[in-house]
Amino acid sequence: EKLNSNISQKRAFKVCIRVRPLLNDEVYKHYDATTAVNNSVFIHKLQQRFNKKSLETKLFSVDQVFDTQSTNEDVYESINHLIPLILEGGVGTVFTYGQTGSGKTHTMTGIENLVAKNIFSDILHKIFGGREGYEKFLSKNPSYIPKFKEYNQKVIVSFFEIYGETISDLLNNKNKLDLSEDVFGAINITGGLVEVEVNDTESMLELIKKGSAFRNTKATFKNDTSSRSHAVFQIKIINFSDYNGAEAGCLYIVDLAGSESGADTQHHNKEQIAESVAINKSLAALKDCIRNRSLAVTSKRHIHIPYRNSKLTLLLKESFELDSNRQCETVVIATCSPTEIDTAQTLNTLRYIAPLK
Ligand code: ADP
Ligand code: MG
Repeated sequence: EKLNSNISQKRAFKVCIRVRPLLNDEVYKHYDATTAVNNSVFIHKLQQRFNKKSLETKLFSVDQVFDTQSTNEDVYESINHLIPLILEGGVGTVFTYGQTGSGKTHTMTGIENLVAKNIFSDILHKIFGGREGYEKFLSKNPSYIPKFKEYNQKVIVSFFEIYGETISDLLNNKNKLDLSEDVFGAINITGGLVEVEVNDTESMLELIKKGSAFRNTKATFKNDTSSRSHAVFQIKIINFSDYNGAEAGCLYIVDLAGSESGADTQHHNKEQIAESVAINKSLAALKDCIRNRSLAVTSKRHIHIPYRNSKLTLLLKESFELDSNRQCETVVIATCSPTEIDTAQTLNTLRYIAPLK
């Protein structure tokens, strides 16, 4: 069975790499920065610990790279095509993937969270900025063709965490949530997800701060749950000009669990092992879905996409499907540490990410 030939345009998928700079304490410890990137191809210089002369270079093909000099604004530039998409009713998804400490949160939802902030202020300009804001939005997004009346939209956000296979609401005392699939195949979040209507960037940042703090205070001794869970910040655009306020578009900003997945933690009690199995499982499920989806696009054939294998992939079902009505675009940003001691983890990250292109 052949799929529609314009499917790859309609289902854009972008893979990026970002290498963070050396942190102050790494400079202090005289760590070497041996990971470097170059243009559209990633070059990894593996300087062998006992033989500084031997330099190994590995090539990984991706769509875009951000070196240590890159700013969050640069990253934002590479994903802002998702904004017109969601305003027109599509589904955008941005993942950050990488080992703990590589810059996932810094890139997406950290306190300086310029990416989340930029996304948001752009959306708000368009919806709430009046004529001036709308014109500013259009000048930044020249390809945007308005489909809905610009002043009849509102923005609803929610923030939740997927830890193992448990979903909890970061804006509501970690209230337990679940997923269900309706007769039309749409995935709904059940259990009373708190959704907040937001009209300005400041209140959105407050919500991110509040939810993130919740994530961290639950961390137990030497076991920071924030690196063991996926955090999902969801921005929905609602068209209230429609008869029942239909959901127009949706953006998922996903700060994934650390890619090291507990393999190198020393505290292996029963619970931690079970937890690390669950995390590995969901990251593997994500990879399988993305890969099969891209195989389906390139081969133009129907290939089973195993989104039921984890809560994370079930939630994002629509991003992988090729026959959904809404247009879906995804960006994966793989974050890497520049240091020599993190080389093995960096290579793992790149092996995960590069074949997804
Ligand atoms: P992760 O979420 O992947 O565990 P973080 O985002 O918390 O990692 O980053 C770890 C540390 O590195 C933080 O102190 C963060 O501020 C810093 N950092 C990460 N990326 C960058 C960057 N591109 N520029 C400057 N500092 C960064
Ligand atoms: Mg983090």
